[in-house]
Amino acid sequence: MNFRRSALVATLSVVALTAAACGGDSEETATDVPVADAPEFEEGTTMAELAEAGSITIGTKYDQPGFGLETLDGELEGFDVEIAKIIAAELGIAEEDIQWEQTPSAVREEVIEDGEVDMVVATYTINDERAERITFAGPYYEAGQQIMVAADNDEITGPESFTENPELKVCSVTGSTPAEQIKQYLANEADQLVLFDEYSQCADSLSNGQVDAVTTDNVILLGFVSESDGEFKLVGEQFTEEPYGIGIEKGDVAFCEFINETLAANEEAYVAAWEATAGQIEGTQTPELPEPAECV
Ligand code: GLU
Repeated sequence: MNFRRSALVATLSVVALTAAACGGDSEETATDVPVADAPEFEEGTTMAELAEAGSITIGTKYDQPGFGLETLDGELEGFDVEIAKIIAAELGIAEEDIQWEQTPSAVREEVIEDGEVDMVVATYTINDERAERITFAGPYYEAGQQIMVAADNDEITGPESFTENPELKVCSVTGSTPAEQIKQYLANEADQLVLFDEYSQCADSLSNGQVDAVTTDNVILLGFVSESDGEFKLVGEQFTEEPYGIGIEKGDVAFCEFINETLAANEEAYVAAWEATAGQIEGTQTPELPEPAECV
């Protein structure tokens, strides 16, 4: 099965249903946060600049069902997309004034440092190494790394299976935390670890039998399982913690605090965003907004 294509086809039918339910208004957001009318911010802040510009550039994923997925008509949908829209709305920026930029895992710090995007909302784990280059708002969700295999695979039961069976191959994405964290379980990294730029490429490789497993965050994998029509399953427990943050320019504490306050003030929209997106996937649970970390 081609996971890019199947994701798009599934999305098309959802869009058609939504359009019917909303009388043709497929523009409606899941979260329904009103766009602030001429909000005022302290001069010189990122918020003031963005509010005045009336537009914002946001990096996200385009191939991850439930979090950031491009539909056939070029729209984006997913929990990350909705979180980004909530923040934009509080800046007085409507969703049609958001410029989206596809940001695969490996380029996220770079696009923030280069000023190509104003923020990244892209299943982006907060960690110390990344925090040396950028500032994280959040966390807004807590994921954990897990393993996905073909539904008829009884050999792989967790990460230790790769230590015990050096012939098994596992796929992940360049520049991701799961790609790093799986290495300690590999008997032979050079042969066992297969890296692509995007997880949909890993899902295709699993489908083709080129690899035996895919590893990344549980919620990302659940999205592929739900698209797979019974072809894939998750095995074992989550074996890491992956708190998702919103990446912004290093040291922009005021913007970071604004983002945290915005999420805290919109908990209802946060839950609605989840339920309309990742919450539709079997096996997911509605989260509570975590306590924010200090902005540094
Ligand atoms: N949350 C992990 C990370 O930030 C994996 C998901 C991803 O690659 O986007 O690296």
